[in-house]
Order: sequence, then C-alpha cells, then structure tokens
Amino acid sequence: MKSYTVVELLGDGISDELSQSVHAIAAELPCRLVFVPVDLSDDNRRRRGRALYAEAVGLMKEHTVSIKYPTATTADSPNKILRDECDFAVIHRPVATIPGIENNFKKTIDIDVVRIATGGTYEDPGKRLGDDIAVSLRVIERKPSFYAARFAFELAKQRGTHVVSASKYTIQQATDGLFEEVVADVAKGYPQITHRKELFDALLAGIIMKPEKYAVIVTPNEYGDFLSDSACGLIGSIGLGDSSSYAFDEAGNVTCAMFDPAGGTAPDIAGKDLCNPTAALLSLANLLRHVGELQSSANLTNAPYSAIKEGRKTRDIGGTLGTKEFTAEIARRLRA
Ligand code: ATP
Repeated sequence: MKSYTVVELLGDGISDELSQSVHAIAAELPCRLVFVPVDLSDDNRRRRGRALYAEAVGLMKEHTVSIKYPTATTADSPNKILRDECDFAVIHRPVATIPGIENNFKKTIDIDVVRIATGGTYEDPGKRLGDDIAVSLRVIERKPSFYAARFAFELAKQRGTHVVSASKYTIQQATDGLFEEVVADVAKGYPQITHRKELFDALLAGIIMKPEKYAVIVTPNEYGDFLSDSACGLIGSIGLGDSSSYAFDEAGNVTCAMFDPAGGTAPDIAGKDLCNPTAALLSLANLLRHVGELQSSANLTNAPYSAIKEGRKTRDIGGTLGTKEFTAEIARRLRA
C-alpha cells in the first residue's frame, strides 16, 4: 500500500469536526495517509506566535503536501502568512455543478480556475492624489505567470481537456500582454493541448451562455478571484468548494501544496455535529489527485455528489444528516 505524509493544519470552530471526517474517509482509501498535525488554532497562535508559523512552514516544505482547515482571522491572518512564507504562487479552485444543490443556473458547469496568487492590483492599496484622483499599481510578473500556465496545462493534460487563458490583453497591453505572452510560450510545450485566449469580460458571458466550452481557465490574480466566486454563485454555493495553493521550483514543478476547504470557521455550529464536510472531503480528493491517486480522487469527488443528489445530505443544504452520519454515508459509498 502506497503511503503519503500529509501535514494537517488544524484551526478553529468546525476544524476538529472536519478533521475527524477527513480521517474517517482516509481510513477507507486504498493508500495510507500519515497525518502530521499542527495546531494553528487562535489560542495556540497567540501562545506561540512566530515560532508556531516557523514550525508549520518547516513541516509543510519538508513533507510538501498539507491539508488546512478554517482558521479564525484575529490578530493575524494565517492564510496570508502561510502564503507568503511558503511562496505560494498559484491558486487552483475547481468549481462543478453539484446535482441536488439548488441554484439559478439552468446549465451544468465543470471548470478549474487556475490563478496567479500574487500581484495584479492586490499588492498595492493605492494612493490618493488630492481629492479627486486615486491611483494604484498593477503588477504582472513573468515567473508566476509561467507557474500558473504550466500548472494549467499539466492539469488539462491530466483531465484530457483544453486551456483558456483570460485577461484584458487588448486594454492592459503591457501587463496582460506579458501574461498572455508567457501562457502562449508555455502552450508551445503542450502541442497536444488546445489553447485559446479570451477577453475576460467575454469569458464571463461565455461561461454563462455556453459553460460546456470551458474546462481549465488560467488568469491573473484579481480576475481569477472574481471568476472563482461568481462561478460558485452559478453552482449555488460558495461554501462547498475547495481551494489549493502551490509553490514551485525554477522549472515549474510543484514543491509545496496546500489544500483547504473554502468555507469559514462557522463558530455558531461548531461542536454540534452540524457542519457539512463536503468541501473538506473535496480538498482531500484534490490532494489525492495531486499525489497521483487519480482513481481514489475521482471516487472521493463523486461520492458526496451522488449522496447529495440522492438527498443524503447535511442540514445546511436541506438534508437531515449530521456530520458523522454524512461522513459514514460517504465511507459506505467509497466501499461500494
Ligand atoms: P469566519 O469568520 O471564519 O469566516 P463566519 O461564521 O463569519 O466565520 P462562515 O464560517 O463562512 O463565516 O459561516 C457563515 C455561515 O455559514 C454560518 O451560519 C455557518 O454556520 C455556515 N457554514 C459555514 N461553513 C459551514 C459548513 N461547513 N457546514 C454548514 N454550515 C456552514
């Protein structure tokens, strides 16, 4: 049985329940996951400060694969600190229709949003020039553009699909021009994978009208941020999705990856067996894809989808199951 070490970053609120669910499902897999826990709860962060982050980041880099549960953003923002310290350059958000979740969208969607994790307009808060003008700096760099593009093409290769890059290259000719130039260069190394570029506004309309034309989409930072959340709106849920962050070596190979459910700490329902572990389980599925356990990953993606479709779901999405019952349902489906 193949074995993988996974650093487990425990947080606040529903974090413990999500972790229990992940462990219960990990026990059903045909590979072994050895978890190395790190307590990133608010209490422990206050107690140990930077030493705790140094320990977490050291373990994340050593073992290269981590799963992180929600952490409260209080005196510090663990997400920002981990992103900076681990040099995460790319964020991946898969968004797919979940049958059985109500939404206002008539079609089905199945896209992977791959975005540069840094730069764009997000690094600079801008500056007022007198009363009536404000400016901010927009940065696009070759290296993270290359990492995002390479990640997108590798993902498309794995999925047997194509890549669309999206930006405003006709308007932002220098910045988005550089981004598209790098993507086109990377595309040359993948002659078997179709690549087309689209203007970001046209892409938003295209996704709504013809979602079947989109699979892997690569964008600069802010566009990817807008797209991930709006696509989640199309599937009827911001909280059911997962996200992953990646750091790279010079050649564009992943050196450190972190997988996390998109939702928050949900303190109002913590410890009550009420939380929905779907996003945490989809994070685990994406982690399995990353380490090469493709069949287990597909099975673990399909299990919550089929359970939800058949009405075996938690209360937040109109079902009756508690966290433990839903987890047991997923385990039963994986065994079958
Ligand atoms: P944070 O500050 O960590 O973002 P929050 O409570 O402000 O916490 P969320 O955690 O996103 O924000 O919660 C928003 C609402 O969604 C809450 O009512 C919460 O109970 C619910 N919720 C969030 N995550 C889940 C989940 N996994 N299962 C069920 N309900 C959830």
